[in-house]
Amino acid sequence: MRACVLVEPGRIETRDDVDMPVAGPDDVVVAVKSALTCGTDLKAYRRGHHLMPPPTLFGHEFSGVIADKGNRVEQFSVGQPVMSVHTAPCGECFYCDRSLQNLCPHLTETMALGAYAEFLRVPATVVDANMYPKPDGLDYREAAMLEPLSCVVYGIGQAPDATSDSAVVIGAGAIGLLHVMVLKEMGVKQVIVSGRHDYRLETARKVGADLVINSEREHATEAVLEATGGHGSPVVFECTGLPAVWEEAVTMVGRGGCVVLFGGCPGGTTVTYDTTRLHYDQITLKGVFHYTPEAVRRSYQLLADGRLDVTPLITGDRTLEEVPEAFRNFLGSNTMKFAIIP
Ligand SMILES: [Zn+2]
Ligand SMILES: [Zn+2]
Repeated sequence: MRACVLVEPGRIETRDDVDMPVAGPDDVVVAVKSALTCGTDLKAYRRGHHLMPPPTLFGHEFSGVIADKGNRVEQFSVGQPVMSVHTAPCGECFYCDRSLQNLCPHLTETMALGAYAEFLRVPATVVDANMYPKPDGLDYREAAMLEPLSCVVYGIGQAPDATSDSAVVIGAGAIGLLHVMVLKEMGVKQVIVSGRHDYRLETARKVGADLVINSEREHATEAVLEATGGHGSPVVFECTGLPAVWEEAVTMVGRGGCVVLFGGCPGGTTVTYDTTRLHYDQITLKGVFHYTPEAVRRSYQLLADGRLDVTPLITGDRTLEEVPEAFRNFLGSNTMKFAIIP
């Protein structure tokens, strides 16, 4: 089959002779209809990723049609359109027992990695816990948004005050804008987005942001304080993964508020916080990672019910042959996500 291989950081090759995946008795093989580019893939392309040692197939946001299945799979049939995430928890470990399935150490043992390909094997744990039938009315591109949306829905669910009047989202990439959509859908009146690129901030407005701040030109914290009557926002979502921005996020949150740290920083980095703000202003810093099956289910419902229009996040379509060039372009600020159509 045809598939993209991340040969080493900075080098992707589209090959015609990659082995077809084979379904075990409880697995399925999906003929990929759409796979989305993602910040994690970009990280792997730029500097390598410990969960994707090269050379490796990659791409993990996908939807498609069941092409083959193991003889014990009963809930799906060949030819059925499906949408899925790429991991699932074991359901039996210390963390799974404590409803922290997102921290299950077995999550990444059986990932469905390699969606930039004609076919992808989805392992039994994922088929059981995190794969859903795709509704007819939902485009394959939008259905492929299930994975990033699940991360966002999980993270927002960890904020104690996420439905308050105002929320700040720092970072106007696809993840930041998914936050905007979900927060607006939840009924948050004032969603403020801070970013650095006009194209992305315009897209933020399109998907529902009430106020956008270009932090290259404006002082983001001052703008947030002004928009919130000097109090700061009850909840701030950090979606850049930059240590300096993790620190800046605390200057935008109100007393008693919560900063949700969504964006993962490079390994080994550290941050410093003003103890006075944390203690006397009673600020919560909440790290969030990945998703639980419950978050996937809620995200599926949002997409299946048509309650989110995620199409503004998809810049355009590319073929497998165009993936290497798409990743070079993806470094630009005038794109969000590409839909790779094998
Ligand atoms: Zn992703
Ligand atoms: Zn587990």
